[in-house]
Amino acid sequence: MQRQFGHRARLALTPAQVRVVDGQAHAARVTWNLLHDWWTMLPKDKRSLAAADAAIRRARQDLDWLAILPAQAAQAAQAAQAAQAVLKTYFQAWRNCWDGRADAPAFKSRIRSVMSVDIPQGRDLNIVRVHRRWGMVNLPKVGRVRFRWTKDLPVGKRANKGNRISGARLVKDVLGWHIAFRVQAVEPVAGPHRGPEVGIDAGVNLPLALSDGHHFDHGRTAHQVDGTADRDKWLTSEEKAKLLCLERRAAHRKACRKSGERISRRLRNTYDQIKRLRATATRRVVDWQHKTTTEIADRYGAVVVEQLDIRNMVRSARGTVEEPGRNVAQKAGLNRSIVQEAWGRTVTMLTYKLAQRGGTLRRVPAPGTSLRCSACGLTTPGSRQDQATFVCKNPDCGFEANADWNAARNILHLYRIGHVSIPAAGRAVVRRARRVKPAIAR
Ligand SMILES: [Zn+2]
Repeated sequence: MQRQFGHRARLALTPAQVRVVDGQAHAARVTWNLLHDWWTMLPKDKRSLAAADAAIRRARQDLDWLAILPAQAAQAAQAAQAAQAVLKTYFQAWRNCWDGRADAPAFKSRIRSVMSVDIPQGRDLNIVRVHRRWGMVNLPKVGRVRFRWTKDLPVGKRANKGNRISGARLVKDVLGWHIAFRVQAVEPVAGPHRGPEVGIDAGVNLPLALSDGHHFDHGRTAHQVDGTADRDKWLTSEEKAKLLCLERRAAHRKACRKSGERISRRLRNTYDQIKRLRATATRRVVDWQHKTTTEIADRYGAVVVEQLDIRNMVRSARGTVEEPGRNVAQKAGLNRSIVQEAWGRTVTMLTYKLAQRGGTLRRVPAPGTSLRCSACGLTTPGSRQDQATFVCKNPDCGFEANADWNAARNILHLYRIGHVSIPAAGRAVVRRARRVKPAIAR
């Protein structure tokens, strides 16, 4: 079974190399913007996939203006190749839009867009492992660079037609430049997983409650002393204090800024420090999620989860202008906490990890799972005593349990009686902004 996946590793660049890659990223962004300008100026009836393909083929001649761009001026062939890479991503962005997977591509701003450089082919990367923890890779116009080796990549003698690295992308975040390898691998088809079925609820008290009584906890309380959701629970108390201090400083500097004035270097530094702390928190979450989802996928053959639309939950709390939501702050706090548990990412990880091991992920429709009693099956008013405890108010039952655990049992029960959501056959669910129209008839 052929599998494609990405693997991201930290690059060790010198400040001079960082400047070179920054220059390449800016050149790529400018190329994108010029291309977007050309495309949107084109009469609508001339915009089509065929025109796009023709543009890609013409690129070598048409993109003379690229020679003025700094980082790529030296070698015309390489500049054309870099432009080709941008063209490819640009038209892929339009295809994603036309197929309803994403919004229409737009101009990329200098400060708000993610800086990235595409390396379309893997054959010149020349990856070698030089140390237990380090590998070396060739980057165009930068040279030989070290990267953090955290996964056995199919390189050297282990590379063949099925197992290889087909390209890479350099991506910059607040913690610096990273390289994301595109990896192709042939994996044996897994036999059926013999593990038991389990329902999982993403709770606020128990991050992951399992229907068989187990639960996974990261040992960080979701609520602050005053009862509001703690959005920075993945930071230590010193880091939290530091973050608060930085946020106050940023607010003060922002208040002192006259309108229309450029953001000062000091304010931008403060913003960067805040972003760095948040990125650290995100890495801790992802690490925890990887460990727990691997353990779940190893242990269970069928995992049942609730089908939640997290985007809608956040939106509904806020309400509309005519009909503002009630208890917006509390709900938003709760919702943000759910978002922060990054449920979507957990489900994505579970999906592919289970598939690799021959297991399956099932989704059941959400309503009522947190209010119904999992022992007698009745929904009685007031049974959800507070966030943490569920006490059945049916006089014959009186079942008492942790609310998240009760919900997990309900989820498994819904699956067993056949309430499985069936995804649309062979196609992702279409999500298209109302104003975005397909540019061509399909
Ligand atoms: Zn009951």
